Amino acid sequence: MVNPFGEGAVPVSFEVYPPRTPDKAPSLYETIRALAAVHPRFISVTFGAGGSSRRSSLEVLTHILHNTHVQPMAHLTCVGTTHAEAADLVREFLDAGITSFLALRGDPPTDEAHIDDFIGDVKTAAELVQLIQHVQSERAPWTDYPVMGSTARRIDPTPAPVNVAVAAFPNGHPESGATRADIDSLLAKQAAGANLAITQLFFHSDDYFRFVDKARTAGVTMPILPGIMPITSHQRLTRVVELTGEKEPSELSINLQIEPTAEGRAAVGVDYATKLVNELVAGGAPGIHLYAFNRHDTVLDVLHAARLVP
Ligand code: FAD
Repeated sequence: MVNPFGEGAVPVSFEVYPPRTPDKAPSLYETIRALAAVHPRFISVTFGAGGSSRRSSLEVLTHILHNTHVQPMAHLTCVGTTHAEAADLVREFLDAGITSFLALRGDPPTDEAHIDDFIGDVKTAAELVQLIQHVQSERAPWTDYPVMGSTARRIDPTPAPVNVAVAAFPNGHPESGATRADIDSLLAKQAAGANLAITQLFFHSDDYFRFVDKARTAGVTMPILPGIMPITSHQRLTRVVELTGEKEPSELSINLQIEPTAEGRAAVGVDYATKLVNELVAGGAPGIHLYAFNRHDTVLDVLHAARLVP
């Protein structure tokens, strides 16, 4: 995709989630319009493990595909699915015109009694990467074209290549005993055909650069895109730390707690994320991926402050 900011501009991308209720869709579509206006490389849409958001995720992805110039990236999870179910899911998204995926294992429910039933037979993200490539290679590359007021099908001689991204964990996945397991897992995903890694959020640029160094030494060659979440309330910081297992950044935590106004806390979150983005860009990160939380104001403030968009 041509970057309208010219050669050398740092690519940006965003993550959104499907609306939790239908009445939230219009505001999400307004957010997507505002995010698309800064020409991101892609906008990714999360997927509820177990398929809970299958329909709503696909709706948001096709909205992006048909209403913006931006590439939609579908998160897909494999936990709890059989091989045939996962292949059906991939086929459905490919048929809808989606060609970019973030292949994830997802998390089984915490209800211990059902964990064994829930694991399914596609057990790791690496297996899902392989499955996506396999489904695409087996799919007849048909395209519809209009003929005499109707449509006919023909073989597309140049079917769109499928891009498959995967997750990476600079500070280790909560289930991995040592960071080394994460690097091995990233290598397995690359061997399966992944061509981009997107990191879990982190709060210190050193964590990212140390991880990238280790990954390169081990043979990971795909770009590793840092994932950044501007956090504008202490409540959200606590929740995010709980969910990701990241260590709470004390400076951000204290500043969010002592700031009395919502406006002031927004500024604290934007400043922290901007400093992180500046350090990452200066250190050579291949782009910046922002967790938008279905709001455009905060992430766009960060990109403006970091001078990554005009
Ligand atoms: P995997 O890579 O399969 O494995 C996770 C970890 O397990 C590895 O890092 C490694 O430590 C260990 N491991 C795996 N295979 C092996 C092996 N063979 N040997 C030893 N150790 C191994 N979840 C959702 O439900 N929906 C989403 O939309 C979503 N989006 C996400 C987006 C990003 C950018 C990130 C970073 C995470 C996202 N998640 C999402 C969360 C993700 O599903 C969980 O973190 C899940 O626990 C792991 O998924 P994975 O794809 O990293 O799994």
